[in-house]
Amino acid sequence: MTQESATGASQSRVMPTYARLPVAFERGSGTRLFDREGNPYLDALTGIAVCGLGHAHEGVQAAISRQAGTLLHTSNLYEIELQTRLAERLCDISGMDNAFFCNSGAESNEAAIKIARLYGHGQGVAAPLILVMRGAFHGRTMATLTATANRKIQAGFEPLLPGFVRADFGDMDAVRATAANTKDIVAVLLEPIQGEAGINMPPNSYLTELRAHCDKHKWLLMLDEVQTGNARTGKYFAFQHEQILPDVLTTAKGLGNGVPIGVCMASGEAANVLGPGSHATTFGGNPLACAAAHAVLDAIEEGKLAERASAVGARIRKGISAALRGSNTVKEVRGLGLMIGVELLRETKGVVQAALNQGLLVNCIADRIVRLLPALTMTDDEADELVERLSTTLKEL
Ligand code: PLP
Repeated sequence: MTQESATGASQSRVMPTYARLPVAFERGSGTRLFDREGNPYLDALTGIAVCGLGHAHEGVQAAISRQAGTLLHTSNLYEIELQTRLAERLCDISGMDNAFFCNSGAESNEAAIKIARLYGHGQGVAAPLILVMRGAFHGRTMATLTATANRKIQAGFEPLLPGFVRADFGDMDAVRATAANTKDIVAVLLEPIQGEAGINMPPNSYLTELRAHCDKHKWLLMLDEVQTGNARTGKYFAFQHEQILPDVLTTAKGLGNGVPIGVCMASGEAANVLGPGSHATTFGGNPLACAAAHAVLDAIEEGKLAERASAVGARIRKGISAALRGSNTVKEVRGLGLMIGVELLRETKGVVQAALNQGLLVNCIADRIVRLLPALTMTDDEADELVERLSTTLKEL
């Protein structure tokens, strides 16, 4: 039996893991998506920080078309030149030493967790622990949902994995207290800015202090930049706002602009942990995904899109604050670059649909926060349009 959804799509054969909105898109162009009736929407979400260059980007389109006509996949049993060069480029950008390619954010964090455990065993720790943060989101595989701090995501999937301890995000005293009370921590895994938990910003110099703490205790500093990476916060990686280098660094989402690719990078001792046979994935870093990622890096470099993200992000945050001043709707507008959270004074129920009615795509998280993750290519006019549509939506609610 099939069942008609609100969009007219027959969905009964798709497992109902998503509560989908009543709209389906047929095509995209730049910062716009068009539904089946041809109605345009300003996309302030970009598939949750994926299409950083916007939709149907010419460079990505040309790169993947060319690659599809040349070679889609071989195997990691052979050298993949595009992958070798992509690893070099990402290491040059980040300062890391090497890279393991996979297909998603959760997988890139799985690789990080495996590196931490192998590293711990190498240090003579039989049951190594990874410190993770309250509010964290690292994915939905068994290890990453254990690292994630959301009971709704974990409930029903017990037994969770052993090997994780938790502290408050952004609080060095909490890290020190956990370290003092817990033996066998070998690594800390965290997002530089927490995305799913509400665009939570840590205090200034948090990562620098955490780096010093990790050095002192021989912990690996492992940063999950799945959402913050790829120029979204105004630097290629968010950690680059501070003068530090992590031991392990993961990203995915915006790296392929919609073509699935993830990467786990490592530096120093952590870069020598994985060896032949210790980790693998069939599709990871295949020629198609790497061709897309090269096109993304070209566009970010040529268009100076990290700088652009800073400027447009500041414009949007300022614009929203100004437009809603005195309206008694907003508690705080926060974020860095084009990773923006608008915290409301009320719950966000109804906001996504009301924005949709205004032709604007946003997403709501953590009860009271409207999240904006627009394309890095957004023009000033489009940014002003976003501000106008969102403030109208919030005022009318
Ligand atoms: N880590 C962070 C910080 C994320 O925001 C996400 C996805 O939202 C993930 C990991 C999981 O990525 P994926 O859905 O590609 O597995």
